[in-house]
Amino acid sequence: MLPNFDYVAPASVQDAVKQLSSGVARVHSGGTDLLSCLRDEVFTADKVVSLSRISALKGIKAAGGGVRIGAMTPVAEVAKDSTIRSKYPGLAQAASEVASPQLRNQGTIGGNICQRPWCWYFRGGFYCVRKGGPQCYAENGDNRYHAIFTKEGLCYIVHPSDTAPALIALQAQVSITGPRGARTIPLQDFFVGPGTDPTKETVLKQGEVVTEILLPAPAAGLRSSYRKVRERRAWDFALAGVALALQMQGGKVASGRVVLSGVAPIPWRSKDVENAIMGKALDAGTIAKAAEAAVKGAEPLKHNAYKVAMVRGMVEEALQAMA
Ligand SMILES: Cc1cc2nc3c(=O)[nH]c(=O)nc-3n(C[C@H](O)[C@H](O)[C@H](O)COP(=O)(O)OP(=O)(O)OC[C@H]3O[C@@H](n4cnc5c(N)ncnc54)[C@H](O)[C@@H]3O)c2cc1C
Repeated sequence: MLPNFDYVAPASVQDAVKQLSSGVARVHSGGTDLLSCLRDEVFTADKVVSLSRISALKGIKAAGGGVRIGAMTPVAEVAKDSTIRSKYPGLAQAASEVASPQLRNQGTIGGNICQRPWCWYFRGGFYCVRKGGPQCYAENGDNRYHAIFTKEGLCYIVHPSDTAPALIALQAQVSITGPRGARTIPLQDFFVGPGTDPTKETVLKQGEVVTEILLPAPAAGLRSSYRKVRERRAWDFALAGVALALQMQGGKVASGRVVLSGVAPIPWRSKDVENAIMGKALDAGTIAKAAEAAVKGAEPLKHNAYKVAMVRGMVEEALQAMA
């Protein structure tokens, strides 16, 4: 059952920040994640602050050769937007792989990058380390869907967002407004691993709201893609995924980013893959080395060793498709 809470729907970001700055207040965007967390007592709230009336947070606009995506833009809109599809196909693919059509219509891009983890111990009645408890129950429990990369140990969630890896690969920035003003940071620095704070997934502080995501103008020769492997076609989180954004020049990789999903507590930038392909043509030998590099440092748990072979194969397929 949902707890009792006050519900407010301010008309401006400044009012939303004021409402969020006291008590146990939570941002409500599409509510597809927030309401189940409240209903399942994952956390509580005495106030829910809806962003639904703030029109400035909605829509996709051109900006200096790039685009600005308002945080309240539905994921479905990101998937079908013609500019996103032509300039940033990796993001359009990632958005179209999120959940189901209903959830993509209701869920927003801001909510997608801020969603809480879906680890069954965290979502279940366990007082785990992410809730401030003494331990991670996945570490020695049923960890078939958990992380194979985590330098810090402590907590083995996988970051659930499909759009975040694609956005990081495309060098997105995120704008945040809070009680102390506004700031814009690289999306890559938005996520925090368990070693920094196992109870948080992002740098957001009390009262802060994600207002928009900024994508730079795509460099000449930039190609991007998102490949996701999941258990069911209907809807499912990534068992593993890979976002590529590679700038090709003269048939070689001139620069770029490779970011994995479904394998670590944060979207996992694989510098080992990037180093294996930089300055090289994507031929069979380079791709084989890059696929091997993708699993360097992986430390699977008892029930998720299958992810190692899956990541290797998925990176190989994604690079072959790009080649
Ligand atoms: C059955 C199911 C399957 C799913 N499968 C996938 C999947 O395959 N891939 C995937 O990527 N996602 C998946 N999701 C997650 C889904 O995409 C998210 O629920 C959705 O994108 C969240 O958006 P929302 O607007 O509904 O967020 P909300 O539910 O409103 O909010 C989510 C969280 O983020 C916070 N928040 C929201 N907006 C902001 C903001 N602007 N600033 C600061 N904090 C904010 C809220 O306080 C809350 O804690 C799935 C969800 C469900 C229920």
